[in-house]
Amino acid sequence: MMKVLDLHCPQGHVFEGWFASEADFQDQLQRQLVLCPVCGDSGISKRLSAPRLNLGARPPQAAVPATAGEPPVSSPRQPAASPEQLKALQSAWLKWSRQVARSTEDVGERFADEARRMHYGEIDERAIRGQASAEQAMQLLDEGIAVMPLALPEGSKQKLQ
Ligand SMILES: [Zn+2]
Repeated sequence: MMKVLDLHCPQGHVFEGWFASEADFQDQLQRQLVLCPVCGDSGISKRLSAPRLNLGARPPQAAVPATAGEPPVSSPRQPAASPEQLKALQSAWLKWSRQVARSTEDVGERFADEARRMHYGEIDERAIRGQASAEQAMQLLDEGIAVMPLALPEGSKQKLQ
């Protein structure tokens, strides 16, 4: 059974993490394996659900007269970013992706196999990346093996060579 958690880093980037269980999340967190996909920060916390964060907001179903200037009850998932912010985010993401690409070994379609052999101590642990089908990723998670979905931007590979 897989658990999808809403996570955020100290910089306020919100992202989704997939884990085999709550305990698996805590374990990966302690080993600093959970990283923000935008800035690479490992100080990750679980995101409280929106209703708990909106302490001052009235429940949407309550029939109360709205006053002018009151913030909307349901806020968007992420605050709207200015074009400058988006640009900064994108370049941070590109930088991080290149770091990942540089510090990991591309094992291609052998990814699931290699990850499993490392997990069971058949080969030494190292950072790898590669392709896994959704089914393979689920199986790895089921076995308690940490995998992280990662989309490297187009072009980051070529610029490395
Ligand atoms: Zn971040």
